[in-house]
Amino acid sequence: MASVNESFLRPQLLDRKERLERALATTPGETELTDLLASVDAALARIDDGSYGLCRTCHDPIEADRLLADPLLEFCLDHLTVAQQRALQEDLERAARIQRGLLPDANLVVPGWEVSYRYLPAGPVSGDYCDLVRPEGDVDRLYFMFGDVSGKGVAAAILMSQLRAIFRGLLGTERAVERLVGDANRLFRETALSPYFATLVCGHAAPAGDIELCNAGHCPPLLLGGGGARTVDPTGFPLGVFYAASYRSTRLTLRPGESLVLYTDGLTEANDHAGVEYGVERLVGVLLGARDRAPRDLAAACLADLTTFLAGAPRTDDITLMVIRRTV
Ligand SMILES: [Zn+2]
Repeated sequence: MASVNESFLRPQLLDRKERLERALATTPGETELTDLLASVDAALARIDDGSYGLCRTCHDPIEADRLLADPLLEFCLDHLTVAQQRALQEDLERAARIQRGLLPDANLVVPGWEVSYRYLPAGPVSGDYCDLVRPEGDVDRLYFMFGDVSGKGVAAAILMSQLRAIFRGLLGTERAVERLVGDANRLFRETALSPYFATLVCGHAAPAGDIELCNAGHCPPLLLGGGGARTVDPTGFPLGVFYAASYRSTRLTLRPGESLVLYTDGLTEANDHAGVEYGVERLVGVLLGARDRAPRDLAAACLADLTTFLAGAPRTDDITLMVIRRTV
């Protein structure tokens, strides 16, 4: 660990030391700068004695990604001080608050449609992406974006907010769903580091009951009608996999009372204590049994059934579920 970082870090730390010393020359006695300079000196000393990058408590290597972000770290995640643990926790809570602020109204009624969704992160933040937009100058059309960034936790949550910004930006000028998804794929591919990718459904719903959607490798949406439930198959690769991927859209017409149901695999792939998967079939069963209920109650019924199924087994993945119902 020490030898890998030495040639890369030593010049950076020396540069930081020099700048701190210059700053201290103009504001002598500045405690924060003095403490920082002491930390930089200590890191240089650890490089010299070969202990750089090793936790001071357990002497195991500190997590490489954390060390890259902050070369002055002295403890692995397992051995943070109480103050550091509290700071990390507060950081996560702030991130969670910001992410909740990025979500649309949980219950939305627009001409022709009633939409409701539930968003359940596995931890403080989620890698699931869920948004509803009525573009300026085109408010008759409701755009829905619903996806899942690979992985979970903070990294996935950052990419989720990136996807949201990409789509909201593109919707300023672009209205065709194939082109929206194609452009978003290229932008996401440019910014997200491999091996991250995102599955996603992007579509728009018009007041007369028409839906046009593009499914980039996401769990097939379910069309819930009087005759039962059918799946709407994917029409392209996940975002961020191939730079030049192209997408085509699917058109559906929903009759009053029919719903389109979107979900992330955290729901259908949830496992009970015995390792049995919740599965699409069980989800469809609940949806058909409760299809006459309002979208928010339908979503609640699905999650209540999942809780029954799990019987206390922990949820390990983010879960999001959205019901888009045609009204009149
Ligand atoms: Zn440790």
